[in-house]
Amino acid sequence: MQKTRVELSQDDLPTRWYNIAADLKKPIPPPINPATKQPISPNDLAALFPMGLIKQEVATEKYIDIPDEVLEAYLLLGRPAPLQRAVHLEEYLKTPAKIYFKREDLSPTGSHKPNTAFAQAYYNMKEGIEQLVTETGAGQWGSALSLACNYFDLKCKVFMVRVSYDQKPYRKFVMNVYGADVVPSPSDQTEFGRKVLKQDPNHPGSLGIAISESMEVAMKGKNSRYSLGSVLNHVMLHQTVIGQEVLKQFEMLDQTPDYMIGCVGGGSNFAGFSFPMIGQKLNGKLDTEFIAVEPEVVPSMTKGRYEYDFGDTAQTTPLIKMYTLGSDFIPPPIHAGGLRYHGSAPSLSVLIDMGVVKPVAVKQRECFEAGVMFAKTEGIIPAPETNHAIRTAIDLAIEAKRKNEEKIIAFNLSGHGLLDLNGYSKFLDGKL
Ligand SMILES: *Cc1c(COP(=O)(O)O)cnc(C)c1O
Repeated sequence: MQKTRVELSQDDLPTRWYNIAADLKKPIPPPINPATKQPISPNDLAALFPMGLIKQEVATEKYIDIPDEVLEAYLLLGRPAPLQRAVHLEEYLKTPAKIYFKREDLSPTGSHKPNTAFAQAYYNMKEGIEQLVTETGAGQWGSALSLACNYFDLKCKVFMVRVSYDQKPYRKFVMNVYGADVVPSPSDQTEFGRKVLKQDPNHPGSLGIAISESMEVAMKGKNSRYSLGSVLNHVMLHQTVIGQEVLKQFEMLDQTPDYMIGCVGGGSNFAGFSFPMIGQKLNGKLDTEFIAVEPEVVPSMTKGRYEYDFGDTAQTTPLIKMYTLGSDFIPPPIHAGGLRYHGSAPSLSVLIDMGVVKPVAVKQRECFEAGVMFAKTEGIIPAPETNHAIRTAIDLAIEAKRKNEEKIIAFNLSGHGLLDLNGYSKFLDGKL
């Protein structure tokens, strides 16, 4: 019998987050104020985020201790997560390559997002904040933050894009179970929402509108703050528990991956999975290739420009330097809702600009084909987002077969797709 899982014990849980800023040759470009064109000062952000997180946003030290309360919460999430070998997929492909995947699908809400949700809820709770407000598209982020807020006794308000609220009720129910207040956006609870509804009472909503509504509520409420599930430096930082575990797991295998692959919406699961290993590469210790995968129809990394842009469609956020398609870019309604973002994280963008991370784009139908192949061989139905990473892993395994090379391929299984079965149904009916 061949062993297929590399397990870590609870004693192996990383106790620090890894900060890639310390290993970059130049600083990550700071967010700037659109009016003055000057870098945003930490105080400018204080209406939106607690100081604990603002400090992490600009931190330059290599490691930041994870508070005990957050470590305990990570155990609740089932961390450390296994690294698993896809032997059945390898057999099916008849490839000499070894394929490994990290199990971020095992968290209670089914994705990597609670890794940062718990850290964010903790720092807000510590500073006496009573309510967190956020937006969600399909609901992965909203359900992670609802879970974390409930754990740290915070109220949670989630503006959910109305089409998703109406068409994808299951994640809304998940949020409700954890006690969150879920509001379809545009709503009549904010000035901005009322303005939109006045123009079109049946407006389907968008992530941009939901961001504007949640920022408005967070800024107006005295003890309310805003929370974001990707893109920002502190979010990438929290996710590095994933990659530090992976470093240890490859050490235990006495192997080094030739490829590390992750899908990218804003970049947080890719960053969490790969940044600790990228840190080693930046220090000259290995020659792993890092591949960031996006949908062909949302090509921010492969076709976008590297420039300062707004983080949201309503153009209310500070300007951030990133690979972007423009904040007015309207993504087509693909099933990988988590990958429909017009930009990518500033830290990841620096690495793409340096040539350390290679971006690639893949087609939706081919991603579902890869997802079904993975489900049939390994048993797990992946999130539509994750299928982008799986597609690329499979393509590399096929190439290894052609060249008869024993490559080691690792990808991040960012989440399961059990609440996103519509896309699979359409794929199986030949309607994609
Ligand atoms: C949200 C999400 C993503 C995309 O977000 P990133 O910040 O790029 O990781 C990918 N996979 C899953 C399962 C998600 O929920």
